[in-house]
Amino acid sequence: MKLFKSSDEKKKSTYEESLEKYPELMNFIHNKKRKEHFIQKEQNFILYWEAYKRIVGYAIRYANDEMKSKEWREVYGILIGSVEGSYILIKEAIPMVSGDRAGVEYENKQYVDMANIDHRIYEKAIIDKENDFIIGWWHTHPGFGFFYSPVDTLTHLGYQSVNSNAIGLIFDHTKLDKKSTGIAGLRLKDVSKPSIKSHHLPSDYEIVELIFKPGKEQFISDISELIDDIKKNKDKIDDTLKYIKNTIKNNAIKKLEDQFGLLPQNKGDLSNRDSYTWDTEEDFPQDLPTFRKFLEEKGEQFKERLDKLKISGDVSKYKKEKVKIQKEFKKELEVPKDFCKTIIQDYKDKIKEIIRYWDYLDSSERLMCEEILTKLTNYAETLRDITINVLKK
Ligand SMILES: [Zn+2]
Repeated sequence: MKLFKSSDEKKKSTYEESLEKYPELMNFIHNKKRKEHFIQKEQNFILYWEAYKRIVGYAIRYANDEMKSKEWREVYGILIGSVEGSYILIKEAIPMVSGDRAGVEYENKQYVDMANIDHRIYEKAIIDKENDFIIGWWHTHPGFGFFYSPVDTLTHLGYQSVNSNAIGLIFDHTKLDKKSTGIAGLRLKDVSKPSIKSHHLPSDYEIVELIFKPGKEQFISDISELIDDIKKNKDKIDDTLKYIKNTIKNNAIKKLEDQFGLLPQNKGDLSNRDSYTWDTEEDFPQDLPTFRKFLEEKGEQFKERLDKLKISGDVSKYKKEKVKIQKEFKKELEVPKDFCKTIIQDYKDKIKEIIRYWDYLDSSERLMCEEILTKLTNYAETLRDITINVLKK
């Protein structure tokens, strides 16, 4: 164990270490002779109510005046908007991830989290709309105000260096009062000349004036209702999400797949499902679940039995046998069908409880819910396809 760090080691800040992992940004920062200079032009940043509401709603789940300040956690997200002349419209704010406890020293994690976020997957629908694109990012500073830490600056560089209109928003619920919305817009003054000489990135960010649409007073008066609602229902939201994850996803759906699996597992995404439908002539992949294999075999046996009768020409016997087989087959599917139905109903009930807070869920929470629905829908559809295909024979 070393008691003292060598002077060389000492010189390296966490920030610098984090930079080394991102050679592109390192190059960017060192490349002081960038051709593309930041041209100061008139920019008016307009923050829409929709975006503000979503930032506050998500932030309040992780930090509010009813929680102990040591429990407060920061949250992060992206901003969607468009540029119209000198107006930069911040139309939507997407909650992405909750972070570390507030007040704790900034860690690399913050930057990595933002860098790892694949925005497109989650919010493609929004981004596809009109000329909207990712106009910046936002995060919270519960209890410690509006400034950019070195890592914040680094994160912001990632946005403003590629888009001179980019903006970062910071929300601090403790700054929200009768005169303030608790939110500030921050930008780097000159992204072409960041200095790495000091241990901290340039502190030359600026707070930009935000125009609130429809209006600042309305923001302040309307947001308190949402804050009270979120505070009151915060635990219910968390508990419901926990239930959806543990009981529905990790328990019920897993059981359904283990006992009555229909779709090949771990074989890419479920959208390839069509190639495994019942009556294709193709060979079935080796990793079909046991239950599916059992059904396939059963279907083949039924077909053989019926074909024999067909050849024999005994129509009444054929008809009788067909009814019998259909009954038999339907019976095999009864349990999984009911099981799936029960899970879907449970899922629907739970979603109903939190649907009005949907905007205040983060990307992984929303993705989890969507994936569950896709899985259950696919299962139910496959079950139906199998039934139809066997019964029409
Ligand atoms: Zn920060």
